[in-house]
Amino acid sequence: METEYVQHIIDIIGKDEDKKFIIIGGIHGNEKSGIDAIINVLPDLKKHSLVQKGKIYFLKGNLPALEHNDRFIEKDLNRLWLDENIFSESNSTPDFIQLKELYHLIANEICENKFDNCYFLDLHTFSAKSGVFCIPAANDKSVAFAKSFGVPFIEKLSDTLPGTALSYFGNKGMTALVFEGGTHNTPEATLTLEAGIWHSLAYAEFISPELGKVKKGRELLKEISDNYPHHLELVYRHKLEDYYNFRMNKGYFNFKPIKKSEFLAVQNNSKITSPYSGYILMPLYQRKGSDGFFIVREKE
Ligand SMILES: [Zn+2]
Repeated sequence: METEYVQHIIDIIGKDEDKKFIIIGGIHGNEKSGIDAIINVLPDLKKHSLVQKGKIYFLKGNLPALEHNDRFIEKDLNRLWLDENIFSESNSTPDFIQLKELYHLIANEICENKFDNCYFLDLHTFSAKSGVFCIPAANDKSVAFAKSFGVPFIEKLSDTLPGTALSYFGNKGMTALVFEGGTHNTPEATLTLEAGIWHSLAYAEFISPELGKVKKGRELLKEISDNYPHHLELVYRHKLEDYYNFRMNKGYFNFKPIKKSEFLAVQNNSKITSPYSGYILMPLYQRKGSDGFFIVREKE
């Protein structure tokens, strides 16, 4: 490993080495809003020396995919986070190189392989039209962090998706969260992701909760989530082996209620119907993806 990993660093703020906060955008190269949100919050954070404690690392994910404005080059970087890939000598295709650089940067350079005092916020957007939400890693600290957003959050999803950065670092003990801030490359998604960054840094006590940006951000998160169910759990994942042959029916969006046996999509010329009733999540309306849709239910 040479020093290519430094190219993933957008900025570093703060001096205190005790607590660390990693905020990353663009793990999927077609999702630029996370990086835009990071670039927008940086001047304010720096100008007023708002960071009271801890050190914040702002990172970008899949660099060649970002350059091509594509989700990934050959393999979805956010399905590769497994030790067998990270430590394999043989894989040297572009997405695997990104995986190894990011692993080295986050685990070795930033966290020094001590993960308990590290927060991880992974910024994403989706191809559907609405419905902001977050996904906590499968540990109590991450679930509490997710709950604090006041937007819908989905339990049991991180374990069902092997190979995400979220589950990888969550299993190492980090407080880890994916924040899905809106539709790809829209100004609304950027604003929502900025709100998520301000909220998160205040939640972890890196900045004061009294800052205007934090208060405004929290108001925005509340406003966009008022009409949605808040605490959900995954009941079904429609995994795709071959995304080229999957076409979602029109008109679905995050948290749209669906009924059992509802006709949802066409795959390899056959009808896909819903195996459960519940709410639909992340219906696939883009060319590439490893999941057609998810079904979630309100948690009692
Ligand atoms: Zn994504």
